[in-house]
Amino acid sequence: MTSKRQAGEKVFLFNSDPERGAVFREIFARELPDIEVVQRGDFVLPERVRYLLTWTAPEEIDRYRNLEVLFSIGAGVDQFRPGSVPESVKLVRMVEEGIVRMMQEYVTLGVLSLHRDMPAYREQQWAQEWRARPIPQAPERRLGFLGLGMLAQAAIERLAPFQFPLAGWSRSARDLTGVRCFHGTKQLPEFLAQTDILVCLLPLTDETRGILDTRLFEHLPQGAGLLHVGRGPQLDQQALLAALDTGKLSGAVLDVTDPEPLPQGHPLWSHPKVMLTPHIASVTQPHTAARSVIDNIRRHRAGQEPIGLVDRIRGY
Ligand code: NAP
Repeated sequence: MTSKRQAGEKVFLFNSDPERGAVFREIFARELPDIEVVQRGDFVLPERVRYLLTWTAPEEIDRYRNLEVLFSIGAGVDQFRPGSVPESVKLVRMVEEGIVRMMQEYVTLGVLSLHRDMPAYREQQWAQEWRARPIPQAPERRLGFLGLGMLAQAAIERLAPFQFPLAGWSRSARDLTGVRCFHGTKQLPEFLAQTDILVCLLPLTDETRGILDTRLFEHLPQGAGLLHVGRGPQLDQQALLAALDTGKLSGAVLDVTDPEPLPQGHPLWSHPKVMLTPHIASVTQPHTAARSVIDNIRRHRAGQEPIGLVDRIRGY
């Protein structure tokens, strides 16, 4: 398709699926009509592209010499190879209502599944065994969040009414009402020692790659549960299998693996103590995402920092 609009007009290039692209086009036409939305495959003069939404940096990114902001279509930015986005371009992760709502649902589902021993009840069902299992009450089951960012805080807000004791661990010190906050490598063992269900909501960086390993599991109380919704390469899958088999961990809910999908026959597919989903905890929703991208373009134009601006040195 050839663009019929003025050659001088600014372009937002939507480099993802055409269905969500059509929603962006419709909402931009209403809310920011001076920006033309162009989809992958449409003809556009590269110098007109000011804004780009994409999963990974396109090979030809240097052709977009007037590019100002690159929006990741996902909440993470680990898929952008170092050096693949010019330093002059603002890199912004997706922060939008749909992702937040879906993550709240998934984490609540996963925590309650582990709390109520659902992996064990699934096994009992397969064995046609009708037997109640002893269960601690929520105020005795301690939840610990690795990462206390936007998504962890949103999940905590949903879980708070169940009265689980809440704790979290982050890079820098945080102060959150009702949450026991730990930070930095030094405080990690103390945080883990008081966590019965561990939720990983960390971004993937050099520091967090492989963080869920044997050493980390050793610090958890015997029989702890793991809910992993960060990124696959944060988890040492062999260490998880070993911890499940020795009973160090009682169950795991995994939404992310490495690789994705796991190869056919991988032991995590059929492990009785593992509940596995195909990276669907939360997915960018086009209507809410378009609105949040538009808000961010307005902020950028007004000289303010976009929400979700990535710190290139921290890596998230
Ligand atoms: P965020 O707001 O940037 O928060 C990240 C949190 O992790 C912050 O609390 C940060 O500490 C902490 N952190 C980062 N590096 C750390 C380190 N080395 N040691 C200790 N804490 C560290 O991110 P978010 O929006 O909550 O998203 C978190 C991640 O969830 C994303 O990066 C993505 O990987 C994952 N995710 C998964 C799905 C899915 O469908 N499975 C969907 C969306 C997102 P500070 O507070 O000190 O900065």
